[in-house]
Amino acid sequence: MADYQLIIIGGGLSGIAAGIRAARFGRKTLILEQHALPGGLNSYYVRQGHLLETGLHAMTNCAAPGDKHAPLNRLFRQLHLSRKQFQLQEQIGSEIHFCGQSLFFTNDSTVLEDAIARAFPAGIDRFRLLKTKIALYDPFAPAPWRSSRQFLAAHLQDSRLEDMLLLPLMVYGNAEEHDMDLGQFVIMFRAVFEEGFFRPSGTMREFLDQLVGQYREYGGELRYRAPVAEIVVRDGRVQGVRLADGEELSAEAVLSTAGIPETIRLSGWDDDVERYSGRMSFMETISLLPRSQAATLSRERTIIFYHNKPVLSYRRPDFFLDTSWGVICFPENFAGQPPSDLIQIRVTNAANYPLWKALAPQAYGPMKQKWTAASVQASEEIIGNYQPSIVYQDSFTPLTIERFTRKAQGAVYGSAVKIKDGLTPWPNLFIAGTDQGYLGIVGAMLSGITVVNRHLLQ
Ligand SMILES: Cc1cc2nc3c(=O)[nH]c(=O)nc-3n(C[C@H](O)[C@H](O)[C@H](O)COP(=O)(O)OP(=O)(O)OC[C@H]3O[C@@H](n4cnc5c(N)ncnc54)[C@H](O)[C@@H]3O)c2cc1C
Repeated sequence: MADYQLIIIGGGLSGIAAGIRAARFGRKTLILEQHALPGGLNSYYVRQGHLLETGLHAMTNCAAPGDKHAPLNRLFRQLHLSRKQFQLQEQIGSEIHFCGQSLFFTNDSTVLEDAIARAFPAGIDRFRLLKTKIALYDPFAPAPWRSSRQFLAAHLQDSRLEDMLLLPLMVYGNAEEHDMDLGQFVIMFRAVFEEGFFRPSGTMREFLDQLVGQYREYGGELRYRAPVAEIVVRDGRVQGVRLADGEELSAEAVLSTAGIPETIRLSGWDDDVERYSGRMSFMETISLLPRSQAATLSRERTIIFYHNKPVLSYRRPDFFLDTSWGVICFPENFAGQPPSDLIQIRVTNAANYPLWKALAPQAYGPMKQKWTAASVQASEEIIGNYQPSIVYQDSFTPLTIERFTRKAQGAVYGSAVKIKDGLTPWPNLFIAGTDQGYLGIVGAMLSGITVVNRHLLQ
């Protein structure tokens, strides 16, 4: 008899959600996480007494508890967590700031519609028609890849409006460069523009503790600092895993949330790993400053998506960091946040992983400092000066992402080639999480649940 019915590689959000689902239905389940904390791309750390969250700007898919069909509420039902007891805080409002033009939006989708009517009066009827097309589109029906850009061009006939709508959807959920699959576009359009942004009322640590607590309550086991070094395959089936310290654990099935390239490496799966290497990675700088000196900076925005060049450029830059576009997030600007003495500003820009990777160790620190300053300076052009008021600052690069999550090339959204059915060459090895195709926090969790429901609870 195997040690476990299911071993899950990775204690990120997809792995924990998959674990809750499997353990709830009595499967003897073990999650193996290489890091000392849960959450993966979406975790936290403490520096100089400050709890800093990684990965969370905002959760998407905001919904009222009564909306039974909303993805967020489906997620809570599947995890058997009380949606009513989960307090969330909605965004105040966000802005797409594109080369001098601006669109404001909130979780009330008519606000975006009004902003488009004002900024693009000739295009508002076409935008309304686009919304009805999106409402009718089933992004989960099997379909070949379709270009979102072509779809938008055909419906809107206004390249600036098309670029402005694509910017937040791409930067929050697109593993491809230049374009995105129409199904993914529809998922992101609904998640961002129709349902909207929120964050849990507590910290990410509290949210993760709640999820891990639920998993353990159902009898699930979780080991930290337990890197899997090999997925053991014999006679055409996965037998279990071998940990970095040599310990072997057998399992009837293994679910990997480590990404396709890492799963190929672990299992010896005969495929071209390059084909699955994602290219979009980011650098993020978190600055803390006294609220008293930051009052005017945020302009009461939760997130500002900015783009200074006239044509949308969603691609890996040719240099270390592209500060000509990015995201500025004010995590305190969610309705109902208790006032704090310090506020955070997070600035995220696209980064070039191979250039960061090629740096000599002694060059890494100075390079990080240089680009941190460049990123802050670029954001100051949008929100005003704050550099002199910063009391604490930290940045992470594509190498940090790779080190803490083993995401190949630090690619936050994983491979551009997704395995939507979660299947691999072996009948009892499955893929979930970012490389299965649902992106972001809510998406990753739905992915873990979907793969367990489809392949492991039959
Ligand atoms: C800067 C940044 C900002 C973001 N902002 C947002 C946001 O505002 N809203 C949003 O919805 N999403 C955001 N995301 C994306 C979101 O965090 C991810 O999409 C989601 O958390 C992915 O979850 P996952 O479980 O698929 O993958 P991961 O979180 O990568 O989980 C995989 C886990 O597997 C572990 N692992 C890998 N290899 C091994 C191994 N060999 N052995 C053991 N364990 C292993 C890793 O340590 C990791 O914990 C952001 C991400 C980043 C980096």
